[in-house]
Amino acid sequence: MGNTCFMNTALQCLSNCIPLTDYFLGYDFKKEINATNPIGFKGAVAEAYGLLVNTLWQGARGDALAPSDFKSAIDAVMPHFQGYAQHDVHEFLAFLLDAVHEDLNRVEAAAREAWRGYLLRNKPIIVDLFQGQLRSSLQCRRCLHTSVTFDPFMYLSVPMPRDSGSSSGDGGGSAPSLERCIELFCEEESLSGENAWFCPKCRTATAATVRMV
Ligand SMILES: [Zn+2]
Repeated sequence: MGNTCFMNTALQCLSNCIPLTDYFLGYDFKKEINATNPIGFKGAVAEAYGLLVNTLWQGARGDALAPSDFKSAIDAVMPHFQGYAQHDVHEFLAFLLDAVHEDLNRVEAAAREAWRGYLLRNKPIIVDLFQGQLRSSLQCRRCLHTSVTFDPFMYLSVPMPRDSGSSSGDGGGSAPSLERCIELFCEEESLSGENAWFCPKCRTATAATVRMV
């Protein structure tokens, strides 16, 4: 379908996320659609995705499928992706996950407290499957005071090794492994100079070390 490989890639990844696919296959997801969520799409995106997953996984094995209905549903709510030009796969995946999330979001009150209470009792499936929490620790180099923070995340942007593709001795392959990229992401970093940390113990900006743990 034109240059929509960005969409194909995102759909292949997401539809092979088995717990989410099981949810759309084995559950009447239409019952969970929130058609009045002001930041959703009246259920159109979740419904189009759910139907696509059903067609993909219940069709005959090996059949190819042109997801034209799904593409039209996306075009109708997101003009940015109209046409058959190339787009960024991460941008599309982010849009799709957020849209499915909001379309299946049973919370109608926007209040933060209500949302928090809701999460405690009944987390939506997208949060269960795709959100995580980062634990990062900052340590003052002077007094060794450590501060730990937790941040929720939906996407991790991991760095690529600079020497990827060269003879770095890690097997000679040209693509670095995901594990290697995540290792780099978790590597210790120093904060100093302009980025110095204000240590609450020393009560001054000091050099510090940040670490994801
Ligand atoms: Zn300190």
